[in-house]
Amino acid sequence: MRIDLHTHSSVSDGTESPAELLASASAAGLDVVALTDHDTTGGWAAAEAARPRGLTVVPGIELSCRWFPDDEPPVSVHLLGYLFDPLHPVFAAERARLRDERLDRAERIVRALAADGHPVDWDELVTHADGGVVGRPHIAGALVRGGVVSSVEEAFTTLLHHRSPYYVTKADTDVREGIALVRSAGGVPVFAHGLATKRGRVVSDDAIAAMADAGLLGLEVDHPDHSDAERDHLRGLAADLDLIVTGSSDYHGSNKTTPIGVCTTAPEEFERVLAAGTGTAPLRD
Ligand code: AMP
Ligand code: FE
Ligand code: FE
Ligand code: ZN
Repeated sequence: MRIDLHTHSSVSDGTESPAELLASASAAGLDVVALTDHDTTGGWAAAEAARPRGLTVVPGIELSCRWFPDDEPPVSVHLLGYLFDPLHPVFAAERARLRDERLDRAERIVRALAADGHPVDWDELVTHADGGVVGRPHIAGALVRGGVVSSVEEAFTTLLHHRSPYYVTKADTDVREGIALVRSAGGVPVFAHGLATKRGRVVSDDAIAAMADAGLLGLEVDHPDHSDAERDHLRGLAADLDLIVTGSSDYHGSNKTTPIGVCTTAPEEFERVLAAGTGTAPLRD
């Protein structure tokens, strides 16, 4: 069994449609794939309609959240949620708020870039996103198409990284509230790439323990952005806190170089996800 529990389609900042993504999953020999677009369930219906025979699809999300330390600025954290009820009204409203927040923030980044001589055509960017949830990769794409930089990677290393003068934060969900929302909708909350120091500041072990107290059920341990030491540390924490251990590629199509299925989840850990998720059923034969 090969199980990849974290992928993005063009409904957020991946480059493949949900149907193309599932075809890639099958071609890579996966048995199970979760669709976890940023802040939206907008790809679930297309994934259900296009699911290849033999492939199990786990409906999911990657929710944009923040952890608030006592004496430091908030830390951006990502929360995976699986098998929740997409119609739970309070959770659905919070996702809509996050998507609005993303659009507003992207426009502010674009305006600041343009004012400094890095022009981005906002209307072209929005048209190109085609109704999908907008993120920095869309700005990167627009910078490439406009000839400002030559690749998405270059856009991130020069203009869009989190220490850039053009970086704008978002009012993301308090992660404890995000955990509560996923749980109240019958879902399974898993802390995504929790120690990926290459992405920016990370939270303390105490913060992860507090998340477990708030109802967190799993930690994403095997992730391309985690070093071996980071994985070992998270595996130990998961054992101490009795949390599910997952592994995933965080595939984004050609927006990143990571192949689908490059990290995977053990079947017995996936069984724990299935047992805890009651808000919606996995899609399978
Ligand atoms: P945002 O959600 O708008 O803050 O943008 C974050 C997203 O940018 C992540 O989910 C990744 O998809 C993408 N990303 C971050 N760093 C890079 C990079 N160096 N190259 C390509 N994509 C990146
Ligand atoms: Fe992304
Ligand atoms: Fe993420
Ligand atoms: Zn992701």
